[in-house]
Amino acid sequence: MAVDYMCPDCKGHLRVDEHIILTVKQDGEKGMLLLINPELGNYQTIHHQSHSINEGHKFDFFCPICHSKLHSDLNDNLAMVLMRDTDEKIFELHFSRISGQKSTYQIMGKEVKTFGIDAPHYLDFMNLIDMS
Ligand SMILES: [Zn+2]
Repeated sequence: MAVDYMCPDCKGHLRVDEHIILTVKQDGEKGMLLLINPELGNYQTIHHQSHSINEGHKFDFFCPICHSKLHSDLNDNLAMVLMRDTDEKIFELHFSRISGQKSTYQIMGKEVKTFGIDAPHYLDFMNLIDMS
């Protein structure tokens, strides 16, 4: 069974084939769909060619199904979705809302696995045990 990603509010499936599909908005702008590689630590994204993403901009992330904001309780600069691994374990997956910033945290209870070269940036604030 493949790893699944779900909205924390509606539990809707966000992964379709080899993409996680989210709605993102930059302040004042219309939203767009962002396709993210489901492999942790892979920061390749796809979006419509009429949009451009500037490095360092902060985006709001939304569930494309129920439109809930995907906020993280850990840090305002992070967003969060649920992840279900091949053993059917459920994790919280927190990731940076800032384009170009490679920091992802897979969290269950007090344990965290980190991905991306910028992961140490937020780790100090989290008070979790790094199991990476
Ligand atoms: Zn939802």
